[in-house]
Amino acid sequence: MGDTGDTEEKELSEAREILERSSSVIVLSGAGISAESGVPTFRGTDGLWRNFRSENLATPEAFWDNPGLVWEWYDWRRRAIKDARPNPGHFALAELENQKRKFTLVTQNIDGLHQMAGSRSVLEMHGNLWEIKCTKCGLVTKDYRVPLEELPPLCPSCGGMGRPNVVWFGELIPMDVIDKTLKAIEESDVMLIIGTSGVVEPAASMGLVAKQAGKTVIEINLEHTPNSSLFDITILGKSGEILPLLYTPSVAYS
Ligand SMILES: [Zn+2]
Repeated sequence: MGDTGDTEEKELSEAREILERSSSVIVLSGAGISAESGVPTFRGTDGLWRNFRSENLATPEAFWDNPGLVWEWYDWRRRAIKDARPNPGHFALAELENQKRKFTLVTQNIDGLHQMAGSRSVLEMHGNLWEIKCTKCGLVTKDYRVPLEELPPLCPSCGGMGRPNVVWFGELIPMDVIDKTLKAIEESDVMLIIGTSGVVEPAASMGLVAKQAGKTVIEINLEHTPNSSLFDITILGKSGEILPLLYTPSVAYS
């Protein structure tokens, strides 16, 4: 932390006090927390696969044009993250949930690491890489097989073609996720924004919605974001190092 060490200390203790006082917390998490578990972002050069860009594969058009190809890519992505495990930041959020009267974790991540760490109230804005949705009957099934046996996978109920249960470019975030997020913001005392660049909508606006509703917003990120100046506290650093410092574990390990 070098020269900024003192400032970071002050921000850490302020954030810690605010969290201790609050009984209702909403968290918005993004790719940063997953990256600390070795999950690639699958954007930019990270997203390149056989010279395809993710933007050209993660769309409904690409899927209906060539479902087998898009599924091969998702199968590859599933393989790429199958060994990823939650990091201390994920575990800290799961523990914080146990200590609060109300706690909602909204995530842009599709890797399921929050649930693996023990988080229960998770809203997935962009779906889940381990879920398959039937394009005929809409049935959603969990499927952790790596690799998948047949591509595209078929619905166990009606035999229809399955698709990844994720939100693609040009698709809408499920309305119930938005509704529940807005309600959770309304009922919260404090919002934590973790590991998100703050430019992908609608997640980007959620911090501003919270500010306008008079909530305290604490941002944890590797670097400043376009919205940092609007938030109450910004702590720069890895979420896996900072989050464990923001609460007192309820169980003393000996
Ligand atoms: Zn079906």
